[in-house]
Amino acid sequence: MNIKELRNLKINTEVIDLFGWVNTVRDHGGLTFIDLRDYDSFIQLVIDDNINEIEKIKNEFYISISGIFKKRDLGLENKKQEFGDYEIQVTNLNIVNKSKSLPFQIEDKIETDESIRLKYRYLDLRRNEMKQNILARSKVFKSIRNVMNEMNVLEIDTPTLIKSTPEGAKDFLVPSRKNPGTFYALPQSPQMYKQLFMMSGFPNYYQIAKCYRDEDSRKDRQPEFTQLDLEFSNANPNLVKNNVEKIIKSIFSEAFDIKINSSFPSLSFHDAVNLYGTDKPDLRIKETINDATNVFSNSNVSFIKDSLDNSGVFKYLFTPKILTRKEIDNFDALSKELGSNGLGWIKFENQNFSGPLTKHMSDDELSFVSSLGEGTFLFQVGNLLDISKTMDMLRTKLYERSKKEEHVFLWVEDFPYFEIENNVLQPSHHPFTAPQNVNDFEKNPIEAIALHYDLVLNGVELGSGSQRINNPDLQTLVLKKWGLSDSEIENRFGWFIEALSYGTPQHAGFAIGIDRLVAEVMKQNSIRDVIPFPKTQSGMDPLTDAPTALDADLLEEYNLKVIDENE
Ligand code: ASP
Repeated sequence: MNIKELRNLKINTEVIDLFGWVNTVRDHGGLTFIDLRDYDSFIQLVIDDNINEIEKIKNEFYISISGIFKKRDLGLENKKQEFGDYEIQVTNLNIVNKSKSLPFQIEDKIETDESIRLKYRYLDLRRNEMKQNILARSKVFKSIRNVMNEMNVLEIDTPTLIKSTPEGAKDFLVPSRKNPGTFYALPQSPQMYKQLFMMSGFPNYYQIAKCYRDEDSRKDRQPEFTQLDLEFSNANPNLVKNNVEKIIKSIFSEAFDIKINSSFPSLSFHDAVNLYGTDKPDLRIKETINDATNVFSNSNVSFIKDSLDNSGVFKYLFTPKILTRKEIDNFDALSKELGSNGLGWIKFENQNFSGPLTKHMSDDELSFVSSLGEGTFLFQVGNLLDISKTMDMLRTKLYERSKKEEHVFLWVEDFPYFEIENNVLQPSHHPFTAPQNVNDFEKNPIEAIALHYDLVLNGVELGSGSQRINNPDLQTLVLKKWGLSDSEIENRFGWFIEALSYGTPQHAGFAIGIDRLVAEVMKQNSIRDVIPFPKTQSGMDPLTDAPTALDADLLEEYNLKVIDENE
């Protein structure tokens, strides 16, 4: 039996074959107390010295016991546990399996290095806080299936050995033994297959899908992650967004008992960056970034004037707090890490201004600052996108305290079709996204807007989606404007453009990051804490040591040879 089943037992009756792990052992000379733990409960065992093998028992031994279910003596109850008022007087104890000494204790808030926790992940998952994360994940899966069934969306799976057609990140490649020298890729997402379902005549699709992206280590990304992947035929962005809101609300209610009543607001990409410095603002912080470009456009400070003359902007934040020198230096250092030339600041205190640039500022400029009241004025001047990271950081750090614990959702839309990442032109979503206006796109693709929408929760990008291109000519045009040659288009996407050519309905879709969602609701700093067996930041698995080198013989079967970098 398990501990929860004790609920059905009367006091002073017999417990037979209760199984569990020894959570703690306390020897009180002649009498031993054990906290027995199983999947979801604890119960105290009281054991006389005459019970066999009691002296051998250590933490994490797996035991079975029989005994008498009793009420604890008055004053000895543990109100924190469901069975804290009870104990079992053990009459028989059997060690099912011993445990080696533990690399860390099975308890919450341990300080053990994460690589050790991952090496012994099966023990780490015995700890309650980790178990709760995995249970939350499981509840999310269940609630997804329930709401999708309710909405009559079809669960269909897609292959994981596919043609390499990178969607932005690099692919994980799989050599084909039967066709030496050729490779499959693992999907970065089921994107093209889910579109193929719409071309195949299915009205909709969902899948709890594994996605693989071989990215350079980025904070809190995993090479392998899980998303709720969705696609709808005869669809437009509003239909998809309404469906996603319904699905999210249902998951929150069923899996977490959190009711989200209001509908999610929207912001354009430009407004998001302008007001919050980021395309994923945390709206739990109400303060926005302010603009004083007009006030400073004739500044005597040459870098301000030059920048504003060249379509730069003057953005500022104000706090009634008089920041200390140390706080300002700290913000300055953080700004520089984000590519700023430095933090601009003015303090106004006791009717006096201080700050490195104040003596060069005009009366009008200073009276603008003082009109905000006593406090500290922090600013950045430059191209909006260049200074936005710093403004985002300042806003979040300055007003962090004003955050209330709630779940604030936001749609961000009207993204530029293309962005420049590491000097390379990339679609900001993916190249299957429809442009908002085909003529504008054709004339000036760099300025064009995409029918792409992101869902943000508390400053975290929870998911993305778009209206898809359903026309082979437009698909070819987009790939060309992206910079692909005719032969690259043919080799990489020819089969997909062909599939688009047989009467493809309008379709649109979305994908919700399940790891992110669970991490956010469970208030975990890293998605690694909600993934049962994650990789480290460098893509290693400390439990199995993957990825590992292979014997030359085995590689030969795949027609592969590893080149020694030193040769
Ligand atoms: N395939 C996209 C992604 O994984 C989502 C989508 O457009 O539906 O981000």
